[in-house]
Amino acid sequence: MAIRKIARMGHPVLRMTARKIQSSELRTPEFRAVLRDMFETLEEYEGIGIAAPQIRESVAVAIIAYPADQEPKVVINPEITVLDPTPQGYWEGCLSVPELRGLVYRPRKVRIEYMDLSGKQQVVEPEGFEATVYQHELDHLFGTLFVDRVKFEPGASPIAFTEEYARYHAPGEDDEVGELDD
Ligand code: ZN
Repeated sequence: MAIRKIARMGHPVLRMTARKIQSSELRTPEFRAVLRDMFETLEEYEGIGIAAPQIRESVAVAIIAYPADQEPKVVINPEITVLDPTPQGYWEGCLSVPELRGLVYRPRKVRIEYMDLSGKQQVVEPEGFEATVYQHELDHLFGTLFVDRVKFEPGASPIAFTEEYARYHAPGEDDEVGELDD
């Protein structure tokens, strides 16, 4: 068991499509070790989600630790479908993109079909902020980072360093946008 070094933007593993897991792999010591390390690394950095490529393992596994009062979900081989494309914006951060925040618009509601740890197919239909958490993590399994989804428009200032974000952009209670920091 180990807290792993996080792959940061620029590391090729973050740009690969992660390999799918066979159900026969679920009980192997190798897979269990990757999963344990993902949990330990997530806990160490107090994230609300982590994807295997972030610990330099190119396999299609993510942990969603949101909402905080629920057991974290292990999501394997996910397939995503948009249920409500209405864009909703949240300021996102990422362990693999330290010191930066970006305002990202994503579909409001999605369906995710995935394999759980026992090899069973499961379905979730998160919406709102939870939908953004899933989409951010699952993006990691397809080589995409939140910065790819920031819309660069003159005058929009949609991306900021954390210090400037806190000073100038952190949402107030009445704002429509929220924030995600994983
Ligand atoms: Zn991330």
